Parts: sequence; C-alpha cells; structure tokens
Amino acid sequence: MKTPLLDIVRTRPLIGDGAMGTQLMLAGLEQGGCGEAWNLTHPDKVLGIQRRYAEAGSDCIITNTFGGSRIMLNRHGHAGDVAEVNKAAVAIAREAFGGKPGYVLGDVGPFGGLMEPYGDFTEAQVRDAFNEQARALVDGGADAIIIETMTSLEELQLAIEASKAAGAPCIIGSMAYDVTLDGSTFRTMMGIDPERAAAFMEEHGAHVVALNCGTGMEMERARDAVLRYRAVTSLPIMVQPNAGVPKLVNMKVVYDETPDHMGCGVVPLVEAGANIVGACCGSTPDHIREFRRLLDTHLATVAAGTRA
Ligand SMILES: [Zn+2]
Repeated sequence: MKTPLLDIVRTRPLIGDGAMGTQLMLAGLEQGGCGEAWNLTHPDKVLGIQRRYAEAGSDCIITNTFGGSRIMLNRHGHAGDVAEVNKAAVAIAREAFGGKPGYVLGDVGPFGGLMEPYGDFTEAQVRDAFNEQARALVDGGADAIIIETMTSLEELQLAIEASKAAGAPCIIGSMAYDVTLDGSTFRTMMGIDPERAAAFMEEHGAHVVALNCGTGMEMERARDAVLRYRAVTSLPIMVQPNAGVPKLVNMKVVYDETPDHMGCGVVPLVEAGANIVGACCGSTPDHIREFRRLLDTHLATVAAGTRA
C-alpha cells in the first residue's frame, strides 16, 4: 500500500507540478474557454500535459478542476457535469503517473464571486458547490484536496468543511498573496497575512498550509512566506510560486522566469521548511524537471554529509 501523503511529507520533500491553465492555452484552449470541460472532451490533451509533469519528476499532480465547482462550470453551461468532470480529472491525473506511485491532489479553486452581503451568492450556494465538488474528487480517488488561490478565510472555511465532509484523506489550504504597493510585505486581496491564514487553517482542520500564485510572490518572497508559516505552525508547508509576473508580448501573455532562475529558489525554500515545492502560472515541465534535479542533488549532498 502507498504511504499516505501526510506521512511521506514528514520523511522527505516532494516536488509538485507546474501550471495547467497556461499549458491548456498552449494546447489550444481559447482565452475564456472551459478548460475543465476538456477532462471530458479532450482527455488526451490533459493527460499529455500531466504525463509531461510526471515524467519531469512530479511526486504530486493537481487535477484539472480549478474551476470545477457548479458555480464556475455554470458559466460555461456545464453545471450538470460536476461529478463527471471531477471524477474524470482524478482518473486522468492518476493515469499520468503510468502506474508509478504518485499523489493526485484534487483541485478546488475559488467559486469566482463574492458572498452576501458583498456579492450575489449565498453562503449555502457556495457551501453546496464545494460539497458537490469535494465529494466527486474524493469519490474519484484523490489522495488529497488542495483548496487553491484562496484570498478570503470565509471561502476557505467552506471549502475545508466540504473536504472534511467528503472524507478527504488530506486537506491542503493554499492562499494567494500579493506584495503590497510599497513592497514591504504581502497579504491576500482580502487582507489576510500568512500568520493569520496558518492559524486559521490549523484551527479548522487543514493538514497542509500552502501558498500559490499571487502577485510579485517570486521564489524569494515565497521563502519569506514559508518562514512566516513555519514560525507559527508545525504543519507541512506547500509552495507553488508563479513563473514571474505576466507580461504582454506581441499580444501574448508571457512569463519570464526561466527554469534556471526559478530553480535557484528551490533549495532555499526546502531549507526554510517547505515540504512540497511546485509552481503555478507560467511554469512548464522544464521548470519541474529543473526543480527535481536540484532537489535530488541537494538531498544526495545532505545524505553524503550525514554519512561522512
Ligand atoms: Zn497561478
């Protein structure tokens, strides 16, 4: 039997995967199209992307279900396909490992709106949407649920509770921080700092505290976030920075951090206390291959030092 994710992260650092959205665009998904529907209509394309991540050395692969809740799918006329889209996504990610051991993290992204009194959605609608999606991901056989790109604690809490109710074996809460205008610190769009987020996640039963995406949160800033998490929690920590800041070049969105450049931050992240290191928007299988190489080299050096 495979070692549960929560046990393995206590023994060695793991490598996550890279971007899905920007890879789907490269594979032909139109801007604004429903990438999650591709789990049903173009499973070969999704599998191709995730297989490249597995081959590059990912220990964990995140399902193509970022917008897989009923509220998000409804915008594309797919509200009736929640269970199918999410279950298919888990099966594709599992297949990407090609029989090798690996961890499938079921992705739950933001529902994409605001709750009352600030917006149009009731708490019950959002709760129902997360419950339905989490249930499908767990039924599909996901090893964990990763609640990603969160900015509000209220929304995070609903998704954590949904994951618990669905019986998720591991729950990862991942916040998106933005560097403040004066560059002095970072917090989510809703004003949450890493200490508060970590304490909240621990209190509400998440098993791994994480960060992903965000604005200006390159590897060095991500390391600051890991140190701030580590100062307040002993839970495992996962990090997925973007490959730099998106720039518009010839009407195409381009991310400028190369695998080399991003790779420089991998060992410092692990030394700061990160247990799973992957990457978010703009990253590619080449980034992950470099992360894998650098981490393995580092671990071999540490092991040699221990033996000497
Ligand atoms: Zn991102």
